[in-house]
Amino acid sequence: HQPPEFLLAVEGLTVSFDGFKAVNDLSFYVEENEIRVIIGPNGAGKTTVLDLICGKTKATSGAIHFRGKDLTKMKENEIVQAGVGRKFQTPSIYEDLTVFENLEISYPQGRSVFGALAFQRTATVRERVEEVAEAIFLKDKLGMSADLLSHGQKQWLEIGMLLIQDPDLLMLDEPVAGMSVSERVKTAELLHTIIKDRSVLVIEHDMKFVEDIAHKVTVLHQGQILSEGSMDTVKNDPKVIEVYLGH
Ligand code: ADP
Repeated sequence: HQPPEFLLAVEGLTVSFDGFKAVNDLSFYVEENEIRVIIGPNGAGKTTVLDLICGKTKATSGAIHFRGKDLTKMKENEIVQAGVGRKFQTPSIYEDLTVFENLEISYPQGRSVFGALAFQRTATVRERVEEVAEAIFLKDKLGMSADLLSHGQKQWLEIGMLLIQDPDLLMLDEPVAGMSVSERVKTAELLHTIIKDRSVLVIEHDMKFVEDIAHKVTVLHQGQILSEGSMDTVKNDPKVIEVYLGH
């Protein structure tokens, strides 16, 4: 019996801040083409886990295996190069540029074929920008200045700016916060589309959205796993109910 192939294997991960273990001997595994959602009360360690994976915070101990590399030994920019994209809660788009330009400047320079003619590259970039714009529901807004987009469209644009770099793992921190119901539904659709080529790791509080997207849910509490499994499994887990209801 072959063990399954994991895209991401977090093993024994610990980080201490002045002796306080925000993440405490945490292990979890994300498969290829999986949407994993991390939930848990405030202060559970969710953001810290994403910070550790993208190299913003350095682990005290443990390992994060990703495509044969240990991310705990790499710098933030090397982790991006290795195929990990991270979106923070606040959109960081260029408000005074168009949607097209925002996507274009996010196209990874390093991945173009070295020595290719400039016009060939331009055509490739344009094609890729249009492909991504279609996925994020902004194909008819390519010429629009980004500051005129709705809050939800700005969130999608930032996801697009990561997608154009073709990450193998995309990490999102509360992607539907502040979105309308229809934008939330379309975001779920977007995630289901993009995992054909990658895995997605999401921190989310909106349980309706979690039900719509999660293949598997990891419930964090005090830096450790309280429960893990399908949404149905974790929401009926007495340990989870206790923590959420505060008994
Ligand atoms: P969550 O995202 O689940 O709300 P966090 O990962 O933000 O939780 O925080 C987990 C715990 O670690 C909190 O108690 C928080 O105060 C603490 N913490 C996070 N980052 C730091 C830091 N840089 N220095 C000290 N304590 C931190």
